[in-house]
Amino acid sequence: MQPDCMKCRHYQVTWDKNFPRGCRLFQIKSKQSPATVVKQNTGSHCQEFQERKAAKKDQGLNDDKLWE
Ligand code: SF4
Repeated sequence: MQPDCMKCRHYQVTWDKNFPRGCRLFQIKSKQSPATVVKQNTGSHCQEFQERKAAKKDQGLNDDKLWE
């Protein structure tokens, strides 16, 4: 099953309007989900998904602990 990149700690928004979805681990920038790019290029689903810790109510997304 293809992982949900939006819930993965390696996922990032790139701010590149042409390639807004990114994966830090694979250094992918794309229009579609990085996991889709991995599947297209390797023929296998991404095996590197790691669930991102949920942010606490008062914790901003810039907290490094969320991105370890
Ligand atoms: S490691 Fe895999 S699941 Fe996580 S963002 Fe990258 S492609 Fe998506």
